[in-house]
Formats: sequence, structure tokens, C-alpha cells
Amino acid sequence: MRHIAIVGSGPAGYYTAEAAQKRWGDGIRVDIIDRLPVPYGLIRSGVAPDHQSIKAVYRRYEAVNLADNVRFVGNVCVGPDVTIAELATMYDAVVLATGAPHDRKLDIPGGDLPGVVGSAAFVGWYNGHPEFADLDPPLSGPGAVVIGNGNVALDVARILAKSRAEFHGSDISNHAIDALEHSGIVRVSILGRRGPHQIAMTPKELGELGHLERAQPLVDPADLPEVEADALLEPGMRKSVTHLREFAAADATGKPVTLDFDFFAAPVAIEGDGRAERVIVERTALDRDLRSVGTGETYAIPANLVVSAIGYQTPPIEGVPYEHGRGRFANVEGRVLPGLYVVGWARRGPSGTIGTNRPDGYGIVERIAEDWGDAASGGKKGRPALDELLAQRGADVTTFRDWQKIEAAENARAREGSPREKFVRVEDMLAARTQSP
Ligand code: NAP
Repeated sequence: MRHIAIVGSGPAGYYTAEAAQKRWGDGIRVDIIDRLPVPYGLIRSGVAPDHQSIKAVYRRYEAVNLADNVRFVGNVCVGPDVTIAELATMYDAVVLATGAPHDRKLDIPGGDLPGVVGSAAFVGWYNGHPEFADLDPPLSGPGAVVIGNGNVALDVARILAKSRAEFHGSDISNHAIDALEHSGIVRVSILGRRGPHQIAMTPKELGELGHLERAQPLVDPADLPEVEADALLEPGMRKSVTHLREFAAADATGKPVTLDFDFFAAPVAIEGDGRAERVIVERTALDRDLRSVGTGETYAIPANLVVSAIGYQTPPIEGVPYEHGRGRFANVEGRVLPGLYVVGWARRGPSGTIGTNRPDGYGIVERIAEDWGDAASGGKKGRPALDELLAQRGADVTTFRDWQKIEAAENARAREGSPREKFVRVEDMLAARTQSP
């Protein structure tokens, strides 16, 4: 018997568990550890609540967890409850699948004023993550600024623009849908420090903006390159840019909210009297390497909500080699130290779709198999050793069965048309273990 501990129960963690299950069958025991009492990481707390078809992948992870050789160990925080060094004494392999839950810092003057929030916090707020449920972002409007030209910036802008009715079928948290319903925001400026050909937005997500009930996307035609230049783009990017061209060509619809794409616009400061009131933006141009260079021309965009969606990073863990510049664990093809591996965003940085983590998870299992060679057992104790240690420390562990009870309670309390209403307090999650059937 071999034992693997996976730290983090998001997509990368579950694909790794699935791959181990397929590779070794009953010869493996996998424990998936998460600091929250509930599984699925980014699927639960990161994927947009109005993208339920993407979230449905959790059914696949559930199937992994229904087999005896994979166990969910929730409400256990690596660090205070158990260290990586301790896990290494108990498991033949430890895999870090901790994702990239922290925001890259917006390093400009005023970047820490109240009203400036990172996308991890804002997304966590509307998705009911316990750490961010109390964020209470300023939504009085009329202006908001979203910094970044990736898919997360699109998610944030779309959520700010939707009507209550448009959230039908989503699992956006009640506190967020109620606050957004009373939002006074009528202009969301989406700042890209480069141009339309340098966006990191995918066509499906960008196209959605063209069908919003009460908001119209606006693109200044002067920002678009000559249409012939689109032929040089790869097909997905060409489709995205085609959407931008459609937005630029569209007539005014009179919808009350505008989503203003502001290209060649780098934020250089955020100003205000004790809170964010305006973003100072510098016009940029592209150099020969397509990097943005300031032109010296500046202007101000009034906004008391500024969401910085400029990418994420992995929080370091004591004793684990870390690449500070790239915000991820130092690794060679997922190998960190003997017996310690990393997978997903914690390995390669925050890029790619949920599905990108599948080959990542399968790949790391192959590397573990190579390192184990032909030896049948590593002589480590696995589960019983972890259980003993956690019991000594008084940890209140949640099992997969507990999660199923929490899930049933969340489903039962959902508002009409919504699949679930998540508990946003850890204590409420823990209490639901005993309340539901
Ligand atoms: P991202 O795709 O890396 O985009 C980050 C954006 O921030 C880029 O436009 C970047 O511009 C900009 N940026 C970085 N530093 C900046 C700065 N200092 N000032 C101004 N702008 C700055 O990151 P993301 O949007 O967080 O997405 C993370 C990953 O999740 C991506 O792979 C994304 O596709 C994926 N995702 C997918 C979906 C979906 O499929 N529905 C939804 C959400 C997220 P430069 O290009 O100039 O650096």
C-alpha cells in the first residue's frame, strides 16, 4: 500500500486523486486535505456563480471521492493543524494543490485605500467564501473601475452589471445579490494597460457582455487596430477581437449601465479623501516587444469601487521553496523536494482553464510513479498516523459524508431558482453536519 496526501481540494487536487486512483487502484490511499470544511476550492469559490455549467464538473470530483481509496479531510489547515514536514513522515508523497488564492498586489500609490479590493476578495464575496463574506464593497456608484483585461476582470464587470433577474439559476450568495440589486453603479470602466490585440479574454466570456439586460459594452473604435491585422491572430483571439469590433460598431441602446473598455490605460494612482474616489490613469503605447509604455498623458476616472483583477499568487508555506517573482512554488516539472510535489496553479501560476489541471494532475502522478519505481511499499503509515495526530491536536475534521450533509442543507435553503445557498460561516458549515438528514 502507498499513501498520498494532497493539500487542497480544488480541480488540481481532485484530478491528481483521480489519476492516482486510475493508476494504482486498490494499491493506493489518497487523503485530500482542505482548510475549509467543504471541498472543491475554485469550483465553489472562484468560478462565477452564473456559470453553473462550468461548476458542474464537481460531479466528477464527487465520483472520485465516493470510492474508498480517496478520503476528504476538511477543516484542517496545513501549518497550525499539521505541517508539511509532518505529512512527509506519514505519506509516501505529498502533493501541494493549493491553487493561487491571493491577489497579485496592485503596487501603486493609493492601492491600499478603502474601496480598492483585489479580485480574489471580490469574487470570494459574491461566491460566499467565509474569508470574504463580510467585504461589503462600496456599490453606491456611479463609477467603478476594474483593472485588468483577463477573464476575471470580465467576470467582475459582468456581475456588477447584471440585474437580479439575470442571476436566476446562479448560486450567487444572497448577501451579494441583495447588495448588487441596490447598487448605484452605472459605469464600469475596464482598464487594459495594452490594446485589443493583447487581451487575455476568451470569446465566449466576452460575447456574453453583448447580451446583458441592462448594460451595454462600449469600445472606442479608435483603439482598434486595422481590421487586416486580425488575420494574424490565433482563432480564439480573433473571435474575441471580433466581439470588441461588434461592441465598437453597435448603436447606443439606452441601457442604463455601460461597460467602458478603456485600452492603452495604465492605472498609476488611486486618490481620495480616506477612501478611493478616483483612479489616475496614464495613456500608454506599445513598444516593439508589445509592452506598455507610459506616454505621460494622464486623466482621472471617478470611482469609489476599484477591483484589481491583475492575476493571483500562491501563498508561501514555511519550508517549501518558493519563487517570489512568479508567486508559485519552485519546482522542476512538479517536483519540489524528494517526496514533495506541486500541481495546478501552485505549480505553473494562475493560467489556463479548469480542464488544464487535468493533464497536470495526471502528469504529476506519472512523476510520482517514476520516483517510486518498483518498490511495493514506502513503509509510511498514511491515514491512521494523520488521524492520530489530528485527534491529539483536537482538530474538528469534516469527512466527505459530513460534506454531503452540509451540501444537502445548502441545497435545502436555496432561494427559488438557485441550486444552493452556501453557508458563509465555518461554524454554520460545521453545525449543518448534525442538522440535515
Ligand atoms: P490573466 O488572464 O493573467 O489576466 C490578467 C490581466 O491583468 C492581464 O490583462 C494583464 O495585462 C493585467 N495586468 C497585470 N498586471 C497589471 C498591472 N500592474 N496593471 C494593469 N494591468 C495588469 O488573469 P485572470 O483574469 O486573473 O485569470 C486567471 C486565469 O483564470 C486565466 O487563465 C483565465 O483565463 C482563467 N479564468 C477563466 C475563466 C473562464 O474560462 N470563464 C474565468 C475566470 C478566469 P498584461 O497582459 O498587460 O500583463
